[in-house]
Amino acid sequence: MYEENVRDLVGRPGEMRERERTVTTPEAFGESLAVVPAGEQMQLDVRLESVHEGILVSAHVETTMHAQCGRCLEDFTSAFEVEFQELFAYTPTEAEEYGVHGDHVNLEPPLRDAVVLALPFQPVCRPDCPGLDPETGELRDAEAAAESVAVDPRWAALAGLLAEDEKDLNRVTDFDSK
Ligand SMILES: [Zn+2]
Repeated sequence: MYEENVRDLVGRPGEMRERERTVTTPEAFGESLAVVPAGEQMQLDVRLESVHEGILVSAHVETTMHAQCGRCLEDFTSAFEVEFQELFAYTPTEAEEYGVHGDHVNLEPPLRDAVVLALPFQPVCRPDCPGLDPETGELRDAEAAAESVAVDPRWAALAGLLAEDEKDLNRVTDFDSK
């Protein structure tokens, strides 16, 4: 359970605290091809604001997802970020609403929900991963993958243009990832 103490915020609307936290996942978040596994560290920038109804929590989360590429089936890891905001009410009125318990709020459920919702269903190791050859099961090279796309000669010229665009995009992507 990951809790924040809000004793000095309770009943004092307008008060605000910002905290940096490093949290270790108690168990895997997510259960598809991409997960944040148990024991992975998460860096959180947490903002706790006292409002009339309770404590408003905003958080930015940075961690590492562990995934299997949906195209080439290779395992890979990748930086992963998500944000969430949640009101912890003094008197929750609906079942799904979070509450302030004594002088604590439990951030684990909204943190887990935010991470699980944001993890990709179809992770890819890189945007231009060519995937596996359906006949050999081997990793296709980029050219073979491009050829199999350009079937209709009427589209060949357009495909050429698209390929140029993709190269430009890749160049930008490479630059960003450095
Ligand atoms: Zn891949």
